[in-house]
Amino acid sequence: TECTLAVIKPDTSEELREKILEEIQVAGFTISQQKEMILSNEMAEEFYTQHSDKPFFNQLVDYMCRGPCTMLILSKEDAVQEWRMMMGPADPSMAKETAPGSLRARFAKDILENIVHGSSSLHHAQEEIQLIFGGFSTK
Ligand code: ATP
Ligand code: MG
Repeated sequence: TECTLAVIKPDTSEELREKILEEIQVAGFTISQQKEMILSNEMAEEFYTQHSDKPFFNQLVDYMCRGPCTMLILSKEDAVQEWRMMMGPADPSMAKETAPGSLRARFAKDILENIVHGSSSLHHAQEEIQLIFGGFSTK
């Protein structure tokens, strides 16, 4: 099995948060670790460092620091790709066309406030898990 980092981003209602957690379990993921955490500006900048030259970077960092995130380590066979499939594309209007059952198609507000994050590769998953959960072993 493989591990990925999933984040339920700030401003997600308690009700929706519970619903997402339930869908994650129904989809066959194991939640290996879970914590609520408010990211500092520095951590959010580090987390999204690959986007630091994008025009939306400051907005993205502000959004991620606005309130508590639910941080999850999900494990399953092919977890990285399976979780990205479950999220759908970043832009909810695209998600509605190409992946109508996905979380972002159903629940995202717009391309910025799109409720969930998932690591984009196994390599990124390991880096992100290290950043958020420190010493947790992914083997
Ligand atoms: P994530 O990395 O959060 O799992 P992703 O890999 O689908 O999402 P990325 O291209 O890595 O999407 O973008 C990271 C995040 O930046 C998006 O989830 C979204 O919150 C924000 N974002 C991406 N594109 C835009 C944009 N054009 N305008 C505003 N915000 C954006
Ligand atoms: Mg990404």
